[in-house]
Amino acid sequence: MDFLRPTTWQEALAAKADQPEAVPIQGGTDVMVEINFDVRRPVALLDLGTVAELRTWTMEDGTCRVGAAVPYTRIIEELGEALPGLAQASRTVGSPQIRNRGSVGGNLGAASPAGDSHPPLLAAGAVVEVESRDGGVRMIPADEFYLGVKRSALRPDELIRAFHLKPATGPQYFSKVGTRNAMVIAVCSFALALHPEERRVGTGLGSAAPTPRRALEAEDFLSRELDWDSRLDPTLLGRFGELCARAASPIDDVRGTAAYRRHAIAVLARRTLTWAWNDHRGRRAA
Ligand SMILES: Cc1cc2nc3c(=O)[nH]c(=O)nc-3n(C[C@H](O)[C@H](O)[C@H](O)COP(=O)(O)OP(=O)(O)OC[C@H]3O[C@@H](n4cnc5c(N)ncnc54)[C@H](O)[C@@H]3O)c2cc1C
Repeated sequence: MDFLRPTTWQEALAAKADQPEAVPIQGGTDVMVEINFDVRRPVALLDLGTVAELRTWTMEDGTCRVGAAVPYTRIIEELGEALPGLAQASRTVGSPQIRNRGSVGGNLGAASPAGDSHPPLLAAGAVVEVESRDGGVRMIPADEFYLGVKRSALRPDELIRAFHLKPATGPQYFSKVGTRNAMVIAVCSFALALHPEERRVGTGLGSAAPTPRRALEAEDFLSRELDWDSRLDPTLLGRFGELCARAASPIDDVRGTAAYRRHAIAVLARRTLTWAWNDHRGRRAA
């Protein structure tokens, strides 16, 4: 197996263009497991660990640009205030060791329907920056990035460079059901982002369909019906949960049944909306 070790982004792009079958490795928390269990046997590994710029983030023109390799631990510690939904999801990933090495770039690269970063990226309207030597930069909205089970819009010669997210202007929450409390793949998960200045609601469903996805009908319904200056009507809350569950198309597997997942999505949607609404009302009262 070849082991390619670029030290700059341009070298990394050149290596991927020359050898598109090379498998990028960032934190390695997915790739190494697959190699150890013989799920894949790459002809070449493209180690991005030495491309320093991938581990940096910047805040410019009202947008946060986060390098693909910034690990979950730093998202929690450094970006918790700006990106609260993603930070909350990051806290539920694996263990401290996994959070120290694992990255959102790797989560995007793996494109698992159960990846914990996807629902908050969808809810908050993230854009994924990808690039290839010959095709240049493409900016892919998160809701166009996921194409199928572990399949994304990334082309064979492209690498993920960063993702872009506006800092939160309202409450954001993430909630996950697992078969135990920690070190667990989501049975299903849900993220919510309130955008009060735009009178808009964002959602993200995880582990509830072949790809992470938004509950578009639920978003439209709530954005239209919410009275942002009043209390939260329990009928709205219930209907929102129902519409989120309707957006799911889950499967039965070892972690849970489709029926349970659909039910749980409705519960998570109601729960996160209640938390977010309480925060929203609290901020207005302050
Ligand atoms: C014990 C354990 C617990 C875990 N718990 C969770 C959990 O709770 N929630 C969760 O979501 N995940 C979990 N994971 C999975 C994993 O930690 C995450 O998916 C993590 O985000 C992967 O990041 P990484 O940097 O380690 O990726 P890597 O393993 O380096 O790469 C993952 C994939 O992305 C590709 N890739 C990496 N970087 C790039 C790039 N820049 N451009 C293009 N492709 C790229 C790789 O080729 C590979 O296909 C767990 C894993 C383990 C081993």
